[in-house]
Amino acid sequence: MNPRDLSSHTVYRAGRGIEETARELGVDPDDLIKLSSNENAIGPSPKAVEAIREHAERIHAYPKASHADLVERLADRWDVDPAQIWPANGGDGAMDALSRAMLDPGQAALVPDPDFTYHSMSARYHHGEVHTYPLVADDGFHQSPDRVLDGYDGERIVYLTSPHNPTGSQVSLDEIEAIADRTDEETLVVVDEAYNEFADRPSAVELVRQRDDVAVIRTFSKAYGLAGLRLGYAITPTEWADAYERINTPFSASELACRAGLAALDDEEHIQKIRDLVEWSREYYQDNLDARTYESGGNFVLAEVGDATRVAQESKERGVIVRDCSSFGLPEHVRITCGTRAETKTAVETINEVLDS
Ligand SMILES: *Cc1c(COP(=O)(O)O)cnc(C)c1O
Repeated sequence: MNPRDLSSHTVYRAGRGIEETARELGVDPDDLIKLSSNENAIGPSPKAVEAIREHAERIHAYPKASHADLVERLADRWDVDPAQIWPANGGDGAMDALSRAMLDPGQAALVPDPDFTYHSMSARYHHGEVHTYPLVADDGFHQSPDRVLDGYDGERIVYLTSPHNPTGSQVSLDEIEAIADRTDEETLVVVDEAYNEFADRPSAVELVRQRDDVAVIRTFSKAYGLAGLRLGYAITPTEWADAYERINTPFSASELACRAGLAALDDEEHIQKIRDLVEWSREYYQDNLDARTYESGGNFVLAEVGDATRVAQESKERGVIVRDCSSFGLPEHVRITCGTRAETKTAVETINEVLDS
């Protein structure tokens, strides 16, 4: 007996954890700086941590009220109807919800290349196919309407990521609108805004309010520092927002995730702190790395370093873990997450040493 044919499915390989790497190198985890998974350099919102402690005693109950409260709060935040907010187990879970609501077997999603791999994985998990449009270094990996539409052939879902992972490039609302205008009526443009809190562009939620063919994905994993908790959501057009109840798994966001999310949304100070740090760190990388870097709207910078596998390996041996982008199809690039001020400075020093060796 066998599972169904999964040969076209790729495996999501997360950057290795710090403990694992420390064991491999035979060093203390505290001596390593992990800048490979775009995690929050200053940790979770203290208010979220407090909310988790406070609600821990109540996790024997299903998260009904907390889910409703979170939906209400987010609807208010984005000025949309509560039905338009689709909470999920991370932004990844929100992609699954959209795949389930949109894709009939054999229909396709169009994704950029390079891209965050879960966009295509989710489509494949849901019996969909995946087509790609290429992004090129020459124009800063821009997801321009021409690039996207050149690759477009009636796919059911078109993914844009702004800021884009791993390159940091951004798409303007005008460009998103141009893409949505020029794709078929039954094509949904999904704008993944996992890093939008770090960007200087408005959210595409504005377009979700105006049209029935744009959806947005947001997460608590990055700016809110709740990656370990798994909480994200989609914001979908009113016209078909009620599909959520037909495709959702019961209680897809946990009690503690909903409570922590609610508390984190109220912690403006924490968000401002990480935004300021990221802005500083991005600029520090761009100004001081002895490598070509790209403009970035995210909490990371892409750097062209030659042999990315060597640079990532040797940086790791010196205590700094960065993301080798070979698996993204960028064998000459590493992606470096914005760390604390001290981590950022050490990372630059280390990478420059490796580049010079
Ligand atoms: C991190 C990330 C997400 C969301 O991750 P979750 O932890 O599942 O919320 C979504 N899209 C991109 C591009 C990301 O980098």
